[in-house]
Amino acid sequence: MKLSLVVPCFNEESNVLRFFNEVVSVFKGAVSDYEIVFVNDGSTDNTQNELSAIYNNAPERVQVLSLSRNFGKEAAVYAGLSYAQGDLVCIIDADLQQHPEVVIDMLRTMAADDSIDCVAAYQENRKESKVMSAVKSCFYKFINKIADVDFVNGASDFRLMKRKMVDAVLSMSEYHRFSKGIFSWVGFNTVYVPYTVKEREFGETKWSFGKLLKYAIDGIISFSTFPLKLATGVGLATSFASVIYLIVVIIQKLFFGIDVPGYATIVVLVLFLGGMQLFCLGLLGEYISKIYVQVKNRPIFVLKEHLGKNVKKD
Ligand code: UDP
Ligand code: MG
Repeated sequence: MKLSLVVPCFNEESNVLRFFNEVVSVFKGAVSDYEIVFVNDGSTDNTQNELSAIYNNAPERVQVLSLSRNFGKEAAVYAGLSYAQGDLVCIIDADLQQHPEVVIDMLRTMAADDSIDCVAAYQENRKESKVMSAVKSCFYKFINKIADVDFVNGASDFRLMKRKMVDAVLSMSEYHRFSKGIFSWVGFNTVYVPYTVKEREFGETKWSFGKLLKYAIDGIISFSTFPLKLATGVGLATSFASVIYLIVVIIQKLFFGIDVPGYATIVVLVLFLGGMQLFCLGLLGEYISKIYVQVKNRPIFVLKEHLGKNVKKD
């Protein structure tokens, strides 16, 4: 069975050759039939030249897809999956934080049980601050409550999949791709193996807190319609509360002769309701903007150059 490694690369000039050499040495004697599909996601450094050199040294093992600009990791992975030829496909980062040795473990796990369609790695010990871990765990609790599919905290897109699952993932050609949700949505029998993320030795992570927050919001919007229904609930609750408040004011006035000081209350209510309305409009906007982009039906990625003998799988 042929194995394809799909490797998204964005400004990884100091990592791609190390990655390639590491794979060759780890796979020696363990895996023979494999290819590496590098996707250069619009790097602005020397990544393309490094990848071309790797391809020229091992054209039978390597494909290099160069996208016309930076489309983001999700799009780069989609491009790689579209061109991967393997019966088994593994998505893995170029920075060696996800070590190729784990792929061997994944292959072993998959070989042990024919009913397994996907072996996904999840991070056992996260190398991040306690605050970040707590925020992430709250996010997963929340999204699992409101989303249609299950999200596993710590699981990434570092996973080995059988061809039928890869084809299912490819058939989901949505523009806004949230792969954790997509992998869950397509189903299939997935088992999780623990792994420890290595430190990034060269280059920089492309994640900032702002990007993570946007990613989290995208995840919620892509796999849950709960926020859309929020307006109905909040609207009903505030209307109900205002009727109660009105009754209390009337009783105070009629039976106790107390005048309710109005100005401050009105200001607070107007601000609260105005804020809620804008918030709900904003939520609607999030969904509409996604519909807007989706109906344009733009391609997920644009290919500039393809080094490799293989043709795109359709
Ligand atoms: N990546 C990509 N396009 C992007 C951002 C990242 O192809 O726009 C690649 C990157 O080169 C790496 C992988 O995605 O191989 C994971 O990125 P990174 O290491 O920055 O993420 P982290 O490991 O910090 O989650
Ligand atoms: Mg990384």
